[in-house]
Amino acid sequence: MTKRVPGIGPPVPATARPAPKGGARWKRKTEPGGVLTTAEGKLDRLAIARRLREMARLLDLAAQPRFKVRAYERAAQALERLSSDLGRLVAEERLTELHGIGPRLAAVITELYRTGSSQGLEKLREQYPSGASELSRIPELGLTRIKALSGAGLTTIAQIKEAAEMGRLRAIKGIGESTERRILERIRRLDAPPRLLLPAADAAAEELLAYLRRAPGTVAAEVAAGLRRRTETVDELVFVLASTRPAAALHHVQSASFLSTGKREGHIVRASRPGNLPIEVRVVTLRRYPTELLFATGAPAHIEGLQRVAGPRRIRLEPSVLSRIGHAAPLAVWSEADVYRFLGLPAISPELREGEGEIEAALDGTLPDDLVSRTDVQGMVHCHTVHSDGRHTIEQMAKAAEALGMKYLTITDHSPAASYAGGLTIDRLEAQWEEIARVQEVVAVKLLRGSEVDILADGALDYPDRILEQLDVVIASVHQRFRLDTAQMTRRLTRAMAHPCFKIWGHALGRLVLSRPPIECRVEEVLDVIAASRAAVEINGDPRRLDLPPRWIRAARDRGIRFVISTDAHAVSDYRNLQYGVDMARRGWVRRGEVLNALGAQAFGRAVSPADPEK
Ligand SMILES: [Zn+2]
Ligand SMILES: [Zn+2]
Repeated sequence: MTKRVPGIGPPVPATARPAPKGGARWKRKTEPGGVLTTAEGKLDRLAIARRLREMARLLDLAAQPRFKVRAYERAAQALERLSSDLGRLVAEERLTELHGIGPRLAAVITELYRTGSSQGLEKLREQYPSGASELSRIPELGLTRIKALSGAGLTTIAQIKEAAEMGRLRAIKGIGESTERRILERIRRLDAPPRLLLPAADAAAEELLAYLRRAPGTVAAEVAAGLRRRTETVDELVFVLASTRPAAALHHVQSASFLSTGKREGHIVRASRPGNLPIEVRVVTLRRYPTELLFATGAPAHIEGLQRVAGPRRIRLEPSVLSRIGHAAPLAVWSEADVYRFLGLPAISPELREGEGEIEAALDGTLPDDLVSRTDVQGMVHCHTVHSDGRHTIEQMAKAAEALGMKYLTITDHSPAASYAGGLTIDRLEAQWEEIARVQEVVAVKLLRGSEVDILADGALDYPDRILEQLDVVIASVHQRFRLDTAQMTRRLTRAMAHPCFKIWGHALGRLVLSRPPIECRVEEVLDVIAASRAAVEINGDPRRLDLPPRWIRAARDRGIRFVISTDAHAVSDYRNLQYGVDMARRGWVRRGEVLNALGAQAFGRAVSPADPEK
């Protein structure tokens, strides 16, 4: 049986990879664009991938059909992720075995590999002013603008950035002041190092961990830094690996073919992956593992805080060792908890290691030791169905929630104002109630009929009271008119909260991580009002939202406000958002008892009922 070529997919262990043939061994040599060539001057896979991406951009500029552009992008991606020897695939004419590469692209890649260039690429380059492909990375720049810029002598992103910063870009025909500003913002974002949202970072880390765990003598391996603290975005992946054979393990890490570089400094390997994040792997002995993991995980302010505690206790805390000052022998630590114990502290959960008061709280015994966890959650809150913009039916959502062990589920589709999301008119809402009743007959999970009701611009809720009062749960959210000024937005929210049916504030600040800033309002004032109204605040687990953000969760906790941890599921697969919601709750120090959907079905129903007699 012939083995399928490992193309995209989990990396193959070093031992399973074909040894590079003598002549094809890469000597890393940097060409002008910063890409690598082989010893004979041949382009390596990453250099070829860059050219394929350039071709995709130029084809896009030429207004070629989208599928054609995508084909080049997919082929580039296939090469970036390739974990087997490109030279061999070319020689054996097996490129088409890679996912995303058809015969046409295989021919282009072969040409690029054998000759270092491609007629197709050269032809495309000739059609455009020089620098066009680079400039086309900025979506605001179509062909007309690129030509105008080129006419003004601006052919590189750096030149355009400088011109925009000096306000000179707006002098060019077809570019106004606001376009100039958008272009500048775009360039600054291109310059910024990449950041990943949690699902992508988790996936990348898992793939890498699987490889690291196959290193010789591995006893433990763990991701550290921001991803372990569950920060909303991640800009590097740091791992700590404990091995009984550190030298061999280091070699294993360095020879990972899917990493583009593998620079080594002592016990640390720094590498990167095309289009992905910088990677750092620290390889240590088991004895050194707890302190190394502790240092690699905590934010700098947390580590400094620990060292301030260690000093007066005459303890030396370093990545390599924990010892008593004046004693050569290290203290016996087998876990991070042991390190904290020697410092006189309870173990501090990774999500809290930000240096934002957790050490002081731990010292005076007020650090919560019952942070909410995934298994505390008994009900899925904030779920959409095909009735509005969800992908699955009520029954599918219910059965999937049941399979996850949930006791209840709130069906909260959109209200009419969210017409773009299929918001339900009153008629359709009432029809949905009938379907909920029907499905309830065949599932054990308790179905609560609810709505994610729009908070209108004036602060009114988007259904009449007689409808709201018949619901089991009302989540109220802002979906439109985000740009009111601070005073107007504050008034809008506080007015909505005065409504007796307002029970849960949905994705409170309307932010989208990495793309939309939070709404402008006086958050503390709004939290004061919600605390007085005894409504809850949602911690939205959609990884693009993660709203309320952790710093405001703590401000809400200080006011005694309670929370729901929601998935904002638009499909059954979104139930995994629960974990991200729990992550943010923990970052906000939320205890189990502060989470309404950690209650049983009946108690939850009472806590969120719009018909609550206490209101
Ligand atoms: Zn919403
Ligand atoms: Zn929603």
